[in-house]
Amino acid sequence: MSKVLIIGAGGVGSVVVHKCAAVPEVFSDILLASRTKAKCDKIAASVAERIPNAPPIKTVQVDADNVPELVALIRDFQPKMVINVALPYQDLTIMDACLETGVHYLDTANYEPKDVAKFEYSWQWAYQDRFKEAGLMALLGCGFDPGVTGVFTAYAAKHHFDEIQYLDIVDCNAGDHGKAFATNFNPEINIREITQHGRYWENGAWHETEPLSIHQPVDYPEVGPKESYLLFHEELESLVKNFPSLKRARFWMTFSQNYINHLRVLENVGMTRIDPVRFQGQDIVPLEFLKAVLPEPASLGEGYKGKTSIGCQIKGLKNGQEQTYFIWNNCDHAAVYQEIGAQAVSYTTGVPAMIGAMMMLTGKWMKPGVYNVEEFDPDPFLAVLGTYGLPWHEKVDAELAFAYPDAVAK
Ligand code: NDP
Repeated sequence: MSKVLIIGAGGVGSVVVHKCAAVPEVFSDILLASRTKAKCDKIAASVAERIPNAPPIKTVQVDADNVPELVALIRDFQPKMVINVALPYQDLTIMDACLETGVHYLDTANYEPKDVAKFEYSWQWAYQDRFKEAGLMALLGCGFDPGVTGVFTAYAAKHHFDEIQYLDIVDCNAGDHGKAFATNFNPEINIREITQHGRYWENGAWHETEPLSIHQPVDYPEVGPKESYLLFHEELESLVKNFPSLKRARFWMTFSQNYINHLRVLENVGMTRIDPVRFQGQDIVPLEFLKAVLPEPASLGEGYKGKTSIGCQIKGLKNGQEQTYFIWNNCDHAAVYQEIGAQAVSYTTGVPAMIGAMMMLTGKWMKPGVYNVEEFDPDPFLAVLGTYGLPWHEKVDAELAFAYPDAVAK
């Protein structure tokens, strides 16, 4: 039985709170803190209405960019750990506050500086010694991707391969929210991720591509073929480090033509810029302004139809023979709206965050230091992923969507 502080009352935060509240034997006392207290109160009311026997959710306003404010909040509530589902900009301030107060830490996205899109773990990995010395653990990137994709890869490596060589993470959202243009998670972070250069790992080096320039159809389970675009995604960095046998690692995501057209126009007119521009006597960042006029991810659930399908396609060696393998999850937008008023992108992020916290608090994943999910035993995590709403499937000798040329295989 543990106290937990959850920071961030957006789409993902709402899912984490509902899911933690449904497991009071682990999360006995929950405080939800965010920039706007009214959003925390709305989530607390939904939990009280939907989750039988849930502990009352306490709520409070906090500015998570402010370390002394966070330290005071943590000292007052005395949680065992903090689940950070605010924005990547707050990762380091929250980690600093955890170190100062002696509590464990978990997040779902790597730290991002405001002024430049990086999507890399260097800043957070640099906390390794400080967390170790303090006897504290920080678990990084425990959503779906990053998160479950790392657990899936670790599971494949543990149970199905002697050596994993080729990894393609395939991420499809085949849902329709009925809006002309919206992003499924925080628009600022989402648009930064998609408009940056693509990057993939091959033969010991990173290769850069023009944004969205490489694409091909992928046949997704329960969805069908969808055009999928090569992107850089942060889990590639940690997976390549933790699985040095990988000869190639790539990440693919689907976008509709409508989404890409909107994005191109917004880019062409300068609305996706992250450097400040002077407007009527003050500096504004166009992408931050754009976020303010787009629908909030948490508001998209009602009427959202269709499914997500995210998984890992892997090729490698088993007993000296070539082997292929596919492991994946499908999640239905309407079903998760019915369950807790969420949409599937928030849900597939929030459920793994709750399970990661559960792994830490029950001692199954607990060692001092800063870690990515694939560094732990995948079995206890995957044993409960379906129980808490994200059933997964696997196929050995699967037909994969990608070619593996001999030249690369050597
Ligand atoms: P939202 O924009 O819906 O929510 C973010 C929340 O953080 C909002 O409630 C916001 O407050 C709050 N917040 C922002 N700044 C501060 C601050 N300084 N102090 C306190 N609270 C703050 O985003 P999502 O819920 O969609 O995403 C949350 C996180 O999950 C992001 O880091 C995102 O990158 C990550 N993510 C990870 C995925 C994965 O699979 N690993 C997939 C999807 C998302 P306010 O409401 O006042 O703006």
